[in-house]
Amino acid sequence: MSRPQFISGGCLCGAVRFTVSFPEDADWPPKGNGTCQCTMCRKHSGSLLPQNCGFPKVNISPPLEDNPSYKTYKSSHEAYRGFCGICGSALTFNYNKEPETTEINLGAFDEDVLCGKRDEANAWEDEYGRHVPRIGGVGKELCYAKYHIFMENAIAGVTDDLPGTKWLLDRSSGKGFTGKLTDFKKGS
Ligand SMILES: [Zn+2]
Ligand SMILES: [Zn+2]
Repeated sequence: MSRPQFISGGCLCGAVRFTVSFPEDADWPPKGNGTCQCTMCRKHSGSLLPQNCGFPKVNISPPLEDNPSYKTYKSSHEAYRGFCGICGSALTFNYNKEPETTEINLGAFDEDVLCGKRDEANAWEDEYGRHVPRIGGVGKELCYAKYHIFMENAIAGVTDDLPGTKWLLDRSSGKGFTGKLTDFKKGS
């Protein structure tokens, strides 16, 4: 899939809407894309395997902060998280030290972006139900996680078997590994 001009997203109720554009100098596929199983990301998103991707703030429009429904919560001394004050959708993660970047929770992007548009004209039915082919969509390029952090919280057999490089905590501490947590034994 070639570079999209822009992709759209928003919260569940639609009060917060945004587009992310990909001008020539922007990475496509985006690079800063990973899962985080830290307890704060889990609590804020309500997801076992929260995933987000960082985008240059200048490429997000309109600016999220300009939307009165967009609220933020200071989750630690180093970061804050954005959400919709009306429907509660968890939308962003922001490091104070990286004010030029906003990490967007990937599930906030629109269905057409993630899965493609529904091709109803070519739908068919069988014993499993109705199959609707999709046209377009950039989910694979947009959402392929390149790293996984806070694997110390992985749930064996549920959230530990992921492709890509993993870290016990953040990428700044310790070495990245592949394989499963259960491959490690004390003293080996
Ligand atoms: Zn909302
Ligand atoms: Zn986290």
